[in-house]
Amino acid sequence: MIEIDGSEGEGGGQVVRNACALSLVTGTPFRITNVRGGREKPGLMRQHVTAIEAACTVGSATCDGLTVGSSEIIFRPGQVVAGEYNFSVGTAGSTGLVLQTVLMPLVFADRPSRLVLEGGTHNMLAPPFDFIAKSFLPIIDRMGPTVTARLVRPGFYPRGGGRIEVDITPAPLRAIDCLERGALVDRSALAMFAGIPPAVADREIVTARKLLDWPDEAFAVRELPESQGPGNILLLEAAFEHVTEVVSGFGKLGVSAERVAQTAVSRMAGYLASDAFAGPYLADQLLLPFALAGGGTFTTVKPSQHSYTAAAVIERFLDRRCGFTQLPSGAHRLDVR
Ligand code: ATP
Repeated sequence: MIEIDGSEGEGGGQVVRNACALSLVTGTPFRITNVRGGREKPGLMRQHVTAIEAACTVGSATCDGLTVGSSEIIFRPGQVVAGEYNFSVGTAGSTGLVLQTVLMPLVFADRPSRLVLEGGTHNMLAPPFDFIAKSFLPIIDRMGPTVTARLVRPGFYPRGGGRIEVDITPAPLRAIDCLERGALVDRSALAMFAGIPPAVADREIVTARKLLDWPDEAFAVRELPESQGPGNILLLEAAFEHVTEVVSGFGKLGVSAERVAQTAVSRMAGYLASDAFAGPYLADQLLLPFALAGGGTFTTVKPSQHSYTAAAVIERFLDRRCGFTQLPSGAHRLDVR
């Protein structure tokens, strides 16, 4: 049994999700103590419980200590069974984080699966649907499997009620090298909102337009039905030949529209100023599939604490090393060995 101290490194929910995924793929049980010990409110939250329940369901696994607030879990994997699954995060918890937990086990299964995930689709501190569909999944497809995701209904915090559907066709994961992003082919800025004054989205776009040297037709506002709100996100997208970066600014009560736009623009500016393939979020999410592929490299901006922690958890389960080296350009290169 692998023993993990959940307070080490980033000390958050990602340790739990990666451990579940790795456990299901390798068949190795684990125990985590001090679950989310690095967080102000440690222990499992509702969305982590749902993610682990999803892992138990697809992987015929059992988990002791699986309750909200729990600080110790023991997870024993069984056999991963492909199929049609519906998982609902009771609160507006992120559907994307549930997907992070079960995707790799289902990619290693012997036949296709379909997932219906209900909850939040555009949550702070989690991958928004657009990031999953445009940034993350295209790389997984390049590695061999075919994974397509559809946004059926957006869900914002706190209402939730979003729904995504994901089709997974397994194939052996191929090690790939992602060193160059290629030429810039498209840019777009979209302010989506529901059940809040349209002026908020307009102000986000005005600010983004001032700060980004992008053509007028790159900017758009989309109003969603009021019943899906309240909610607001500003999505900035830069599509390169080999990768698309999607950064987001999340509208929040008490945070001005201008501030939301500035946050998103400064994230995008950081990415555009480097020549790295992966932004910081894509990097920590690619570590698991790259490690499971048994090799491969990608370049990234400065590795985040999430990336170092993901690498440490991976190294506990697999006989692989995930090493980062800084390049003369300032970017970093990840090598899986
Ligand atoms: P906790 O409350 O413990 O922080 P958590 O389960 O919400 O837990 P983290 O451990 O912080 O999560 O992991 C968040 C995950 O979401 C990471 O994989 C990170 O890359 C991803 N993520 C966060 N924000 C974004 C974003 N704006 N775009 C894409 N991915 C994101």
